[in-house]
Amino acid sequence: MSVKAEEMILVIDFGGQYNQLIARRVRDSGVYCEIVSYKHNLADIKAKNPKGIIFTGGPNSAYLPDSPNIDKEIYSWGIPIFGICYGSQMMMHSLGGNVCEAPEREYGKTLVDLDNTSPLFKGLPDKNICWMSHNDYIEKLAPGFEIIAHTPACPIAAVQDKARKLYAVQFHPEVLHTENGKQILSNFVYEVCGCAGTWKMDSFVQETIASLKEKIGDGKVLCALSGGVDSSVCAAALAKAIGKQLTCVFVDHGLLRKNEKEEVCAVFGEGGQFDINFVCVDAREHFYGKLKGVVEPERKRKIIGEEFIRVFEAEAKKIGKVDYLAQGTIYPDVVESGLGGESATIKSHHNVGGLPDFVDFKEIVEPLRDLFKDEVRQAGRELGLPEELVIRQPFPGPGLAVRIIGEVNPESVSIVQEADAIYRMEVDKLPFEQRPSQYFAALTNMRSVGVMGDGRTYDYAIALRAVTTTDFMTAEVTLLPQETICNAANRIVNEVPHVNRVFFDYTTKPPATIEFE
Ligand code: GLN
Repeated sequence: MSVKAEEMILVIDFGGQYNQLIARRVRDSGVYCEIVSYKHNLADIKAKNPKGIIFTGGPNSAYLPDSPNIDKEIYSWGIPIFGICYGSQMMMHSLGGNVCEAPEREYGKTLVDLDNTSPLFKGLPDKNICWMSHNDYIEKLAPGFEIIAHTPACPIAAVQDKARKLYAVQFHPEVLHTENGKQILSNFVYEVCGCAGTWKMDSFVQETIASLKEKIGDGKVLCALSGGVDSSVCAAALAKAIGKQLTCVFVDHGLLRKNEKEEVCAVFGEGGQFDINFVCVDAREHFYGKLKGVVEPERKRKIIGEEFIRVFEAEAKKIGKVDYLAQGTIYPDVVESGLGGESATIKSHHNVGGLPDFVDFKEIVEPLRDLFKDEVRQAGRELGLPEELVIRQPFPGPGLAVRIIGEVNPESVSIVQEADAIYRMEVDKLPFEQRPSQYFAALTNMRSVGVMGDGRTYDYAIALRAVTTTDFMTAEVTLLPQETICNAANRIVNEVPHVNRVFFDYTTKPPATIEFE
């Protein structure tokens, strides 16, 4: 998206997993923000005339010769720079400090002592929980810098050189687990860079509609509608921009949640709130056939992605010439597919990695590609979508296939559908504020011995997942009331055939992902 902004913060990407979050937080604070790779031309970076520069984290070690780096010249421009994690280490390494492998690596929430007389930590308590994720650390300061934060394992957890307006932190202020992280970024933007804060998020929807209109002209668009938040918001934006030029195709690939098809058809089908062409394709047998015997997660995702496109191609042929394929890809999908700049591939997303090369459309449009989940919801509200739809839990494109470890077949789908419906019903008894951001059941590939009606059973185990997150880049386990879990477990083993055991997944993201495959 190209936005004309009077002032801008530039994020330089060194391969961290949370880079878009940095941009997000800066935009949230009212200042436009863009991300460029560390390989970006230096003169061009200067020409963008940013009010401040942020160096991201990254997987490499600053002291190794081939690690990403940026010309030292940048430190002499007089533009404030804020280094985060790898960015902080690289800054110290370049300016004459010393970085090495830490005797004790830190991972997760860590209590940090801060010097809140620094402009960076203005208004913060002197002890603050911060999110750490590092193997290396700054052993010795670069000349001119002073220490403004430390932990027992990390004596140099933040530094500043006020005169040169250079700041750096070992922790990640951009992730939600860092208390007052937003404040730290906002302090950099306002206290250090002196921004005025004139950029507004709510222009996004209008700009998106306008740019979709301009791009598509009188072309026809086929939209992959899954009924989830992302594709619904994508479809709604397109519906506003181009009306009947849009055909939404909803594929029942046999991997949907219980009753999902019916719900989607009620909102988007005939008599629903949108004036679009809506097609529902029953492709269940086709997908089950293709997935027979496939157990490898990436293969599953690729097959489903490819078959999706085939089904769309067939539909496109029926409606005649189609110019664009629209998809509700959002930013975390892009970054996890390893396409979000410099970061490492976690898993391919069906909207991104699974696309075959021979797609028979002029172009793909992904209007939400730069947005995070909570921004997508905000956009959905502005587009007038019903609240039930806007707050809907995310559901992955490959559907229940990534919640079934092992082979996908009508039987495994039916087990996970039933168990998931029961679990969601039990969780939905809680008041809305207590419900996790995402909660679902998955079918593990594990079978174990049980006893039922005095007889031996040898049946499957279901895993229950419940996580709290707003951005889906990191997630915490939601500690549901024991009663909710026990009731769900009890009902599942009683009501779902071939399940005799239920587990609860207590893993955060990272190191686990939210979905199972
Ligand atoms: N790779 C560096 C380390 O392990 C930086 C990590 C990061 O930026 N999260 O310390």
